[in-house]
Amino acid sequence: MAHILVVDDDPDILELVTLKLRSAGHSVTAAASGELARDALAAHPDIELAVVDLMLPGMTGTDLVRALRAEGSTLRVLMLTARSQERDLVSGFSAGVDDYLTKPFSPRELAVRVQALLGRR
Ligand SMILES: [Mg+2]
Repeated sequence: MAHILVVDDDPDILELVTLKLRSAGHSVTAAASGELARDALAAHPDIELAVVDLMLPGMTGTDLVRALRAEGSTLRVLMLTARSQERDLVSGFSAGVDDYLTKPFSPRELAVRVQALLGRR
């Protein structure tokens, strides 16, 4: 079980992902923006994985990951995207994203992708 950060500006997705990961036994911290995500990471150094929405107000998910990697962070990152944003994945991966999930996604697929990323610890 791990401490996971969930970053999404859509409160429904934030709640859905949080509940699913908690039901899988993880500890979850939620953030509604990239800026709040950075605050949460600074406050909780035990966070091992982040589920990050691509489209966030202000700093985008890609901006967030790029900034973390520039600081040497090895945080595992699963990015959430809409189907229309698939071409943005190229920049996401070059920024340091480990895996992605296209919305709408099944909670089961979310759980298995998170587990796969954590399994590489
Ligand atoms: Mg969004």
